[in-house]
Amino acid sequence: MSGASNCFADLGLPPSLQNAALAAGYIEPSPVQREAVPAVLAGRDVLALAETGSGKTAAFALPLLAQLLKAKPGPGPRALVLAPSRELAAQTADLLRLFAATLPQRFKIAVAFGGVSINPQLMALRGGCDVMVATPGRLLDLLAHKGLNLQSVQTLVLDEADRLLAAGFEQEWQRIREQLPPAPQTLLFSATFPNALQQLTDALLSEPVRITLDSQPPDITQRAIQVDAAQRTPLLRHLLKAHDWQRVLVFVATRYAADHVADKLWANGIQAGALHGELSQGARTEVLAALKSGKVKVLVATDVAARGLHIPALDAVINYELPRAATDYTHRIGRTGRMGQKGSAVSFICADSPTNAESHFRLIEKRQAQRVPREQLPGFEPVAVANEGQASGGIKGARPSKKDKLRAAAAAAATTAPPRPV
Ligand code: AMP
Repeated sequence: MSGASNCFADLGLPPSLQNAALAAGYIEPSPVQREAVPAVLAGRDVLALAETGSGKTAAFALPLLAQLLKAKPGPGPRALVLAPSRELAAQTADLLRLFAATLPQRFKIAVAFGGVSINPQLMALRGGCDVMVATPGRLLDLLAHKGLNLQSVQTLVLDEADRLLAAGFEQEWQRIREQLPPAPQTLLFSATFPNALQQLTDALLSEPVRITLDSQPPDITQRAIQVDAAQRTPLLRHLLKAHDWQRVLVFVATRYAADHVADKLWANGIQAGALHGELSQGARTEVLAALKSGKVKVLVATDVAARGLHIPALDAVINYELPRAATDYTHRIGRTGRMGQKGSAVSFICADSPTNAESHFRLIEKRQAQRVPREQLPGFEPVAVANEGQASGGIKGARPSKKDKLRAAAAAAATTAPPRPV
């Protein structure tokens, strides 16, 4: 392969799909698209190490639709895309529909995920569909209701396969597989390749084209700012102002913190929305749309809710609270600095908060084999860290402990206040 092609016309896509990509604002294919599209069109299995942000969705969506243009129509889906979360499933279906809307032939893209009533999804499948995008659990429900037959599936996509596995996918997968034809063309996308995935790929893929993207490391500046827990929201406000960021994702650990921080920002005139697992599907979609359209500048989210989301052009990701797992840190910060744009990732390190402990951040640094220098910003210097310094020979008792107590009380209040009525 020359690897030199830098326009969609060179990838073997029919003109209608080249136009569809252009109409979506995709001028040049991303590296994963450059490699995956011709492989999929050639009927090969694909194993791609590609994260959200690399353009992987279009890397399979475009050639899938190209295959549909060539295939004979039938009642059952000819392509099945499995995704680990409802947001990812919905977004994948949206992109497929966006591309499909410009094609000379009409294709029906069906989407199904849990957490909402199954009946409309069953109804929507009545006339059959061309592509089925689903989370595994809901797909099994649809199969149990006899709402769907997978025997006509020619192409299977496992998107974010590492996350599918993390969600205890194996058993569900075995049950789905029993209903599929023996060896569909299989495309597997994953941000990481844990050992458990190896077995799945061995069993599933035949002589796959392997795609690993080492060409374009994301351009993300990482910062770690030491601050007292109670000062995090003021510091967040300060950063938002100082950098004039237009679209920011703030990560917190709990549903309550997401609502609370978003409320605090609103109260200070910053348009912010919360995204967490307890929001209805409608509310999630709404807040995401608000971020995309610029109505909301800051989205305060939990990891679970933010998984796999398409949030274009984020200026920064803020770890208001650190993720528990170091791998989540990589996922979180990978949401900025996408598609060749610059991004910032800022982590708050608080000596007085277990979710932001210095020791925990050190583990994260170790995992990603990268040191992030600690900073303190004027006006936000932490008291707790200053006390540590005094313990090792500083001026004893220079800090009034009353202030500490006040701050601790404020921090405690921040975690116990009732959520605002919606
Ligand atoms: P994904 O990796 O599929 O989650 O895509 C990440 C983001 O990049 C999405 O917002 C896409 O709309 C955008 N994107 C994907 N491919 C391209 C491309 N070739 N040119 C510009 N933007 C793209």
